[in-house]
Formats: sequence, C-alpha cells, structure tokens
Amino acid sequence: MIQHLVQYAYLVAAALFVLSLKWMNSPATARRGVFAGEVGMLLAIVGTLLVNDIVNYQWILVAFFLGTAIGVPLAYKMPITAVPQQTALSHACGALAAALVGTAEYYRHTADLHGFTMVALIVEMLLGFLTFTGSLMAAGKLQEVLPTRPITYRNQNLINLTLFAIALGIGVRLIVVPTDTYLFPFFVGLSLLFGVLLIIPIGGADMPTVIALLNSYAGLSACAMGFALNNKLLVIAGALDGSSGMILSIIMCKAMNRSFIDVLFGAFGQVQVAKDGAKEKRNVHSASPEEAAAILESASSVIIVTGYGLAVAQAQHKLRELFDILTRRGVDVKFAIHPVAGRMPGHMNVLLAEADIPYDRLYEMDDINSDFGQCDVALVIGANDVVNPGARKDKDSPIYGMPILDCDRARTVMVIKRSMSPGFAGIDNELFYMDKTLMLFGDAKEFISEIVKELPK
Ligand code: NDP
Repeated sequence: MIQHLVQYAYLVAAALFVLSLKWMNSPATARRGVFAGEVGMLLAIVGTLLVNDIVNYQWILVAFFLGTAIGVPLAYKMPITAVPQQTALSHACGALAAALVGTAEYYRHTADLHGFTMVALIVEMLLGFLTFTGSLMAAGKLQEVLPTRPITYRNQNLINLTLFAIALGIGVRLIVVPTDTYLFPFFVGLSLLFGVLLIIPIGGADMPTVIALLNSYAGLSACAMGFALNNKLLVIAGALDGSSGMILSIIMCKAMNRSFIDVLFGAFGQVQVAKDGAKEKRNVHSASPEEAAAILESASSVIIVTGYGLAVAQAQHKLRELFDILTRRGVDVKFAIHPVAGRMPGHMNVLLAEADIPYDRLYEMDDINSDFGQCDVALVIGANDVVNPGARKDKDSPIYGMPILDCDRARTVMVIKRSMSPGFAGIDNELFYMDKTLMLFGDAKEFISEIVKELPK
C-alpha cells in the first residue's frame, strides 16, 4: 500500500516539475511555476521518506536541520546581485550529494555491481565530482575571491583532455572490474581536479553560461543516479534539469555569440583579456537631473535599457514612478531586455516584475532593436557591456560578436551610472563618448528620484 502511495506521489511530483518549467516560461505565470516546483519537491521528499528501505531517521533529521540552518539564512541574506554565486553554490552542493550517494552505493555493493548500474554510477560520480569543484570555482570567480581573469598556460586543452581521458579510462576499468577498489580514489581525485582545470581558463564574463552548463551537469548526474538507484523520479527530475540547463546554455551562447562547443570543452580561456593599456582621457557630455527631465518631457518615445547597476542601486521602484509619470504624459515608454543584462538570466525581468512594470512593456532584444532608430531617447540605467557598440566592430574586444541593444541608433542617449568605470567585461564603451550621448553621473536610484522630482506630475 505504502509503496503504491510513494509511486503516486512520484508521478504527481514529476507532472508538477514539467508544469513548473512550462509556467516559468512567462513572467505572468512564473510565480505559479515556482509554487508547482516547490509542491513537487515536497511530494518527492515525503514520498522518499515513506520508502521502507530507510533504516533510521536520525541522520536524516540531522541533515534536514543542518541543511535548513544553512539554506534559509543564505536565501534571505544573499543580495539579489549575488544570486549567480548562490546558484553556483547550490549546484556544488547538489552535485556533491549525487556524487557521495554514488560513492556510498559503490562501496556498499562493490561485489554485486554489474554492467549497466556501474556505468550509471561512474557517469554520475564523474559529473557529480567535476561539477562540485567546477561550481565552487565559478562561485569564487563571481564573488571575486578568485581571479576573474582567465588563467591559461601552454597546451592547456591537451592537458585537460588527457586528464579527462585518464579519469574516463579508470572509470571504464571500474565498470569492467568493480572490485578494483584501489583505483577508485584516483578516479575521484581526477574528476575533482578536472572540475577545477575546466573552469580556470574561463573569464568572469563567460561565467553565466558556465553556470547554466554546470547546472545541466548536476542534473545529468542526478539522472544517472536515478538509473543506478532505480528511482524513476530522479531520472525524470535529473533529465529535466539536465536538458533545461543545456537549453539555457545554448540560448546564452547565442546571446553572447559564443560557440557552444567551446563552452562544452572549457575553451573560453582563449578569450582575450581586456587591454588595460594607457587610456587617453576623453571628454564626455554630462547633464544634470533638470536637463535630463526636460529632455524626457519633450520626448514622444523613450526606450529604457536596464543593466546590473539597476540591481546594485535597487532603483526598480523609483523607475516605476518615472515610467508612470512619463506614460501619463503620453510618452511611449518601452523596456529593452538583453538576455545577459545583469548577473543572471532573467535578472532584469525579475527586477522589473518586482516593481510591477507591465509585462507588455518589456521587449526582448530581437523585438526591439529595430525600434531604436525611431526613438527619441534611449535611457540607459546601470547597463554597460550590453550596450557597447565595440561588440559589433572591435575584433580585439572580449565581447566582440556579442549581440547588443542598439542604443547608439536612438536620437539621444542618456546613461545613468556613477563614474566612467567599465562594466563586467572590464572594457571602455564607445557609446559614452558619442556626441548624442549625455552622461548622467550618480547612483541610479538617487538620479531617477531627482528626475522624478523635476517632472511635472
Ligand atoms: P555591466 O556589468 O556591463 O555594467 C554595469 C554598470 O552599472 C557599470 O558600468 C557600473 O558603472 C554601473 N553601476 C553599478 N552600480 C551602479 C549604481 N548604484 N547606480 C548606477 N550605475 C551603477 O552590466 P550589464 O548589465 O550591461 O552587462 C552584464 C554583464 O555581466 C555582461 O558582460 C554579461 O556577460 C555579464 N554577466 C551576465 C550574467 C547574466 O546571466 N546576466 C551573469 C554574469 C555575468 P559605475 O560603477 O560607473 O556606476
């Protein structure tokens, strides 16, 4: 009876996971999607706890309280700008859990393990261990506790591939002769090392794609674990996680004009580091909040481009006020969303949704780029790399080839940022020096507040 209940719980959980992904596709249904995912996970956990293979609940309770004690403060205290690091840490924990379950299975049943189960275990542990160290490295780079620049050396790809081939070779040997336990620590060590070496040649600017890919690896590892443990829900949940992470990486590669194969094999290290060379001092035109308000007041169409600085300043609610005032005055206001603006996929959608900016005012890059040529003002708020025209023509630029929002085609460009500091990729931005560009220096929230004060209500 209980076993049947468990199977039903798993079935409903699997359906909820699929629906969750579907609903998360649109901002309008995203909250429902998150809720469906949470209920699905609760059912999966409760179902698993009912399985009569569990010998005692003591350690499960300890792990439950420990996990809660770490996870809850992490979720509440982590600023939204640090979500990518948090995501990387979550992948690290998930992958380590999968790899350790695999390790326990291997040592518990060494003599009874046979072909398919052993293949699943080896795949699971290889992906699990490399994702664990890879995700820690990615989190360290994003948090800047590790150098964000790519660390490269001669024959790096060859060395990495050789290492991977040796780990794989040992894995194959263990599949054929599982009782060769003396090889197991080497397999684990090489997998962990491979995770580190895979990530160090990748520059900080490419980290978002890598995190999506590591997410995919963690999912595939869980999927393989499902086969090893004969748990259908794990197979389904892992496959959903693995494939959605993979699809997200492909979308992000497209958005950054990167080759997916390069990401897959960690070949991003070849990306040029931004040149720090002697920079000449160049003049820019700056403007005050009063001048900016006057320009916005006389505009009939405004496209607002938001970036990472909006998240830092937490200026989304002030921006909503500005949007309301301009819309009331009959100005056509649209928001342009770049797929990698901010520090995580969908970052800008989340911020703007938090401020209740209507979804139908948000336009994806491909849908809005042709509008810039006809718009009076492009108002750039805390964005830099995603509006850098250097990506179109400067072959030496680390972001060369990345599609950008075509702000430079608007009649007037206004950029709110605090200084002339570069963005994430560490490079200068030609947009700021154009004759039609006005730099509005200041914190985004404070500057927008000043503009709002100046505009007639
Ligand atoms: P950028 O990092 O290029 O630029 C952000 C700008 O915001 C900076 O130039 C900074 O200038 C300004 N800024 C910071 N704080 C404030 C503030 N309080 N008020 C006003 N301005 C502020 O951001 P973009 O969104 O344009 O580009 C995203 C970059 O991040 C891309 O290179 C992308 O590849 C990368 N990335 C994207 C991820 C994703 O998944 N979306 C994840 C990780 C990286 P100043 O200091 O002068 O104020």
